[in-house]
Parts: sequence; structure tokens; C-alpha cells
Amino acid sequence: MKKYLVKPETKVKLAKWDPNDMGDFKGGKEEGLALLEKLNARLEMLQEVLFAEHKHKVLVILQAMDTGGKDGVIRRVFDRVNPAGVRVASFKAPTAEELDHDFLWRIHKQVPAKGEMVIFNRSHYEDVLVVRVHNYVPPEVWGRRFDQINQFERTLAENGTTILKFYLHIDLDEQKERLQARLDDPAKRWKFRLGDLEERKFWPDYMNAFEDVLGKTSTAYAPWYIIPANRKWFRDLVISSVLVDTLEGLKMNYPESEEDLSGVVIE
Ligand code: AMP
Ligand code: MG
Repeated sequence: MKKYLVKPETKVKLAKWDPNDMGDFKGGKEEGLALLEKLNARLEMLQEVLFAEHKHKVLVILQAMDTGGKDGVIRRVFDRVNPAGVRVASFKAPTAEELDHDFLWRIHKQVPAKGEMVIFNRSHYEDVLVVRVHNYVPPEVWGRRFDQINQFERTLAENGTTILKFYLHIDLDEQKERLQARLDDPAKRWKFRLGDLEERKFWPDYMNAFEDVLGKTSTAYAPWYIIPANRKWFRDLVISSVLVDTLEGLKMNYPESEEDLSGVVIE
């Protein structure tokens, strides 16, 4: 999984990252899904210990182009975890009140507490992506945000937050297919926005903006992973593996009871 990790301070060229990559994985979809089920079960156990131990905080950030699969990851990777300890925070276009504050204000309110896992569906990175592509603020304003983001994430990390960031990498053809599927399928149509077709025209600008994000904000304390995401099952498999690996690295334990239970007999 290290293969998909972005090393700090590198120049990222997304054209060199294959959205169909399968790394060393030799199996097909069926094997992939079977393995995913095992990993998700492991994730369920790890999340329970995270909650019980009440020590670490876990923040998962998902960013992608439209149809990239953020919702799919949330449904398929976290399908077993206990909703009591996991929360999804989705960030839409900011409200008037949010715009009156600094861009991290609404973000900071949603970060995980001890024992909690929070998944960001979009995030503060929109403030250097869509905001940059559409010139919502001048370059000197968004240009400063990379450092501000790194400092913010460092603060979270130094206060017990494990941060994992996933860019779901699809290509233009895959997006076309997925948009078409949304148009054709009555069950998916509600997700289709004419605005998505407008955004699609800005694809090269977005790639450029993502390359800066990935190159400038992948750090030891808050790394980015570029996930090959044309194949949904492989995307989920990689993300679940990274999560399991990272959570296992925290060496969490169930806590002792706060009371002395020695000699307790239940009549
Ligand atoms: P969706 O995730 O499809 O529901 O769409 C959410 C929309 O909110 C997307 O079009 C994002 O680009 C937009 N959005 C999220 N954060 C920001 C932001 N900080 N500034 C402007 N637009 C944003
Ligand atoms: Mg959308």
C-alpha cells in the first residue's frame, strides 16, 4: 500500500498515476471483494477498541472529482463499523455565516474527539480546489492556504489525531461513464447535476490544483494516498487496507475497568 503514498514535498504528476493500477494484487474482483470483507471485519474490531480505549482520534479525508466514489467508499469500507463511534461530515458550498469566518472554522468544529472516527466527505481542501479553479478568492489568498492547512493538520496530529487523506483517482473516460450511468438509471438520477457537466470542462484545471494539493500537503503527520479508483472494488480494498494497517499501528488496547472488579460475584 506504500506504493500509493505520496512522499512529502514531491512534485506530483497525476498523468503518471494509473487509475487502473492493481499493484501486486493478482486476483480479480471476486477475490478482491472477499478480501475486502475480511478487512472490513478487522476494521470493525479496531474501531471498537478505538472507541473503548478513548485515547486516539481518527480523521479520514476523502477528496475526488465528481463521481470519483466518495459516497461509495463511505458505504462499502465502513459498512460494519459501529455508527455510535463513527461520523461522516460532508462539506458543501459554504453558507454566508461560514464565509464570514476563516475557511478552517467550519472544519475545526467537525474534527474527531477521543475515541471517535470522523470521515470528511470533501473538506478544507475544497478551499484550494474548487475555490482556486473558479477564482473565488485571489491567488495570494488561496496560495497561503497550503501552509495554513499543514499547520492546522499538524496541530490536530500533535493533539492525538491520526489523519489519513485519500484522493480517489479516476480518469476523464471513467467519469463520462459514471455520469452517463447517473443519467440513465432512475435510481441514480437524483445525483446528476447539470453543473457537473460544467465542472467536467475544468478537468485539466482540477488536475493541476490536485497536483499542488498532493505535492504540498502530504506530510508525515497527515499523508495523502492516491488511490487508483477506476475499479471500485480495488479502490475500497486499498483504502480498507491502509486503515487497518494504520489502526493496527496504534497498538490500542481495551482499557481496564475503572473500578476494582476483583472478587466480583454475580448472584
Ligand atoms: P456534493 O458533494 O456533490 O454534494 O457537492 C458539494 C458541492 O459543494 C461541490 O460542488 C463542491 O465543490 C462544493 N463545495 C464544497 N466546499 C466548498 C467550498 N469551500 N467552496 C465552494 N464550494 C464548495
Ligand atoms: Mg455531486
